[in-house]
Amino acid sequence: MTVNLTSDTATQPTADMLKAMFNARVGDDVFRQDPTVNRLEAVAAERFGMEAALYCPSGTMTNQLAIKCHTQALDEVIAEEKSHIYQYEGGVYSLLSSVSMNLLRGERGKLRPGQVAAAVKPRYDWLPISRLLVLENTCNKGGGSIYTLPEATTLVEEGRAHQLASHLDGARLFNALVETGESTAAWGRLFDTISICLSKGLGAPVGSLLLGPQELIDRARRYRKVLGGGMRQAGYLAAAGLYALEHHVERLTEDNARARRLGDALALLPYVSKVEKVETNICIFHLAGERMASDFLEYLRKQGIQAVAFGPQTVRFTTHLGVTDEMVDYVIREISALDI
Ligand SMILES: *Cc1c(COP(=O)(O)O)cnc(C)c1O
Repeated sequence: MTVNLTSDTATQPTADMLKAMFNARVGDDVFRQDPTVNRLEAVAAERFGMEAALYCPSGTMTNQLAIKCHTQALDEVIAEEKSHIYQYEGGVYSLLSSVSMNLLRGERGKLRPGQVAAAVKPRYDWLPISRLLVLENTCNKGGGSIYTLPEATTLVEEGRAHQLASHLDGARLFNALVETGESTAAWGRLFDTISICLSKGLGAPVGSLLLGPQELIDRARRYRKVLGGGMRQAGYLAAAGLYALEHHVERLTEDNARARRLGDALALLPYVSKVEKVETNICIFHLAGERMASDFLEYLRKQGIQAVAFGPQTVRFTTHLGVTDEMVDYVIREISALDI
């Protein structure tokens, strides 16, 4: 058996998703004439109660377009130090927007009440201007941790009291919402802009959406074009996104439950020193003693199981559309049989 726990980006389109893609009506999206892209943007914006949405090739692009549209050169962005925009987007905020990061240390990637207000810089000529707050829900490097709406509201309001704009990196927001039962509309009301990924747990092959006010999305569309993100008959891809929003949201509870099962099994193993709390579809754990993640991953690979290191002795398992209960049973059998 082969099991890919590397990332929820590993999903393959389902047969029904491929059918939806095959049957898509398309046009040139650069001329805004792709009916399927237009519909995806309208459906997503409506679901979050936002004025407009922009379909982009990746979540890196939607996050960075948001930073570009919210800031000016020499501003700073306030974010938790584990945030994707800082860790995994190549530092491109410095190139594209000429801004710096004011990184705060929270817990599991989450900021605590008071941290945002305390981080805003006073307006002196020699200080960057604090302009934008970015929160991430769920936080990937934080172990798939969930911000509840009240927690996020406190932080956004702290920022707003100091004229900070707010952006939510919601690459895996739906993994959180299926747990908390909170509504997309409530999250849409809270943030100025939101990025969601269609290509993670939702299972589309490509694509992310930036949601926000019409005026900002219009500016983001110009930047998307000059960055090479103006795709022509993108409706074939957008059709997968529409299908995912329609059919793959509720089922995320299954991914979250499977990750919890993996976490529970790992917690019983003598060679695992600690399993981070599993809140959604990500399970991060640490190997005990001198055991190295690279050796453990090599053993897994020989059993047909793929995962990634998140540090020298730290491993991440991620569940998704392509991971079944039988696969989780198999992984649990294999890791329980390992004697290291
Ligand atoms: C995956 C991810 C993104 C976007 O990544 P792309 O690979 O550029 O689509 C953004 N934020 C978080 C938290 C992510 O996990």
